[in-house]
Amino acid sequence: GTSGTAGTSGTDTHCPYCALQCAMTLTPDPATGRTAVTPRAFPTNRGGLCQKGWTSAALLDSDERLTTPLVRKGGTLRPAGWDEALDLVAGRLAALRAERGPDSAAVFGSGGLTNEKAYALGKFARIALGTSQIDYNGRFCMSSAAAAGNRAFGLDRGLPFPVTDLDGSEAVALVGANPAETMPPLMGHFDPARLIVVDPRRTATAEAAEDGGGLHLAPAPGTDLALALGLLHIALADGHLDTPARTAYRAERTSGWTEVRRRVARWWPERVERLTGVAVADLRRAAATLAGARRAHILTGRGAEQHSKGTDTVSAWINLALALGLPGTPGSGYGCLTGQGNGQGGREHGQKADQLPGYRRLDDPAARAHVAAVWGVDPDTLPGPGRSAWELLDALGTPGGPAALLVMGSNPAVSAPRSRRVLDRLRALDLLVVADFVRSETAELADVVLPVAQWAEESGTMTSLEGRVLRRRRALSPPPGVRTDLEVLRSLAVRLGRRPEEFPADPEAVLSELRRASAGGPADYAGVDPEHLDAGDPVYWPVPSASAPASASAPASASAPARPGGAECVPGARGTPRLFLERFAHPDGRARFLPVEHRDGDELPDAEHPLYATTGRLLQHYQSGAQTRRVPELLDVAPEMYVEVHPDTARGAGLRDGDPARVVSRRGTVLARTRYVDSMRPDTVFLPFHFPGDGAANGLTNPALDPVSGMPEFKLCAARLEPVR
Ligand code: SF4
Repeated sequence: GTSGTAGTSGTDTHCPYCALQCAMTLTPDPATGRTAVTPRAFPTNRGGLCQKGWTSAALLDSDERLTTPLVRKGGTLRPAGWDEALDLVAGRLAALRAERGPDSAAVFGSGGLTNEKAYALGKFARIALGTSQIDYNGRFCMSSAAAAGNRAFGLDRGLPFPVTDLDGSEAVALVGANPAETMPPLMGHFDPARLIVVDPRRTATAEAAEDGGGLHLAPAPGTDLALALGLLHIALADGHLDTPARTAYRAERTSGWTEVRRRVARWWPERVERLTGVAVADLRRAAATLAGARRAHILTGRGAEQHSKGTDTVSAWINLALALGLPGTPGSGYGCLTGQGNGQGGREHGQKADQLPGYRRLDDPAARAHVAAVWGVDPDTLPGPGRSAWELLDALGTPGGPAALLVMGSNPAVSAPRSRRVLDRLRALDLLVVADFVRSETAELADVVLPVAQWAEESGTMTSLEGRVLRRRRALSPPPGVRTDLEVLRSLAVRLGRRPEEFPADPEAVLSELRRASAGGPADYAGVDPEHLDAGDPVYWPVPSASAPASASAPASASAPARPGGAECVPGARGTPRLFLERFAHPDGRARFLPVEHRDGDELPDAEHPLYATTGRLLQHYQSGAQTRRVPELLDVAPEMYVEVHPDTARGAGLRDGDPARVVSRRGTVLARTRYVDSMRPDTVFLPFHFPGDGAANGLTNPALDPVSGMPEFKLCAARLEPVR
């Protein structure tokens, strides 16, 4: 299965779901119409796939597949021709623009889109619609880690080192990450005995750590920041930071330590224990494990990041990493485990409210001039930064807010916080257009639904959690009647008065333009050569145009002298497998300690809502579940909404194991089946967020935003449990 071409032989590609981008081969069987999935050896998954990957071809021939545009007539979505649907959309967008100005239309993108689509969508918004109102679901994913990475290092790449660096790590802190369920093959890179899992729940990852001799710290929801302050305090007080190497690292490679050191003095262990509930002995063991390792990593996930203080929380963990001398040291580091398939590339190419391609800032005059020149437009015509995702959704259909929305690759009706408010806002729009391949909950509300191709039916590039640019190959033809997202954008742009050549439908042409638009930017893709991708070369951004491969025979040892970019750590690599080896990306080359303080969540339990409610993911489902809820094998295992609760807490609310329960927050009520879990904190309940309707966990969640990243507080709200009578 190495042909790399469409046809009956196998086509090498990658999983459609998460950012691990496990490698697989797809083999269509013309006799049955089915496509077989075979895992493929690759550094991230090493021949493994999770249940989602194994079953990923099920949707290609699903009965629920959309193959004709739908237009709402008389309150009902009815089949329509492509020209009718596109003419209607473009006509109404043009009329709205003439009547209310360009910001009357908005665009909502996705971290699941290929780099080419993310790029084209941003360009479409800025020059075909002329709107500033574009953001994407990645704002709800890793935006806090991105913001913290940018302010500490001057650059954000989820893992600034290859995944395989984790293999030799002697201590890995996983903070609010549950890869045993979200990206299981990643667990193969960890020695459980060396894991420190920070999570209020005893997740599958925490269990693996504890069973293997590692450590599970279970802080109260919303106290991860204080936990990091406590660990830094202990590392300092116990003399772990006084080694010559760490002292020299802080002096030569960082700034801001003095202030952070001064502030952290107040976070003595007993105070941290009282706030977090984590015993001082466990704090000491975790600090000593991290500090005693010759190679160590601190990795954050959504549990740390999806808070109204998510950016500061990540900064606190980065401070700890910097104090220990980890970032930019071969074989060690800080990283964020990006979630969505193209969560990394999706945030680099211009579908974010404040960004232009190449991870350039939209408010930077030089960036505007560069990108405008590539697009052939006057930089002064480019709109400025728009609203972040929640602010955008919350403004829909309001006076002064957008009256039309184009959604591509996302299902905010389920995945956005305070979902009942979002449903109301979507219903209040003059025009809702959804491009999708199934009737997602958002598509059900649309005025126009455009049926688009799926991952295996089109080509493009994805950028995985380690910053590696990958080829997504077309393995089979889309069903008749279906178009690609790029074709949709081109058709709409032309109807809105742009020239066809400005919006190529060929992904190769888009990549070529993306390379020019990103050239010289922080996420420089100029040297991403299709031939290298086709050959399977490891290509890590930034990859300036003249990027030569490293010698395949070069030693991959962590102790080998580091070249800029550390290409020797991945044989044959191009670009920059390891960032920050010689300097960080701030102008002075130094990483910045940021003084941050614990603060409470936006809302805390009280008499009326005495529990913390937190949300998360299951092994069987991906994001809003629009795809995985349509895969029978996955739905069989995880068919319905439930709430994990400590038996004592449940009994106190009059609930037996398996009883239907009402979970009530200040924003709404969710119906869920009670699931007794002995290891739950008695003050906390957990709800998976993949289910819609009355069981949508986001009916409860609090859209209090992080002031830096715009991240809503998905991981913490106050709630109570009631029996269903
Ligand atoms: Fe791999 Fe993620 Fe796909 Fe599972 S969902 S097979 S971990 S890429």
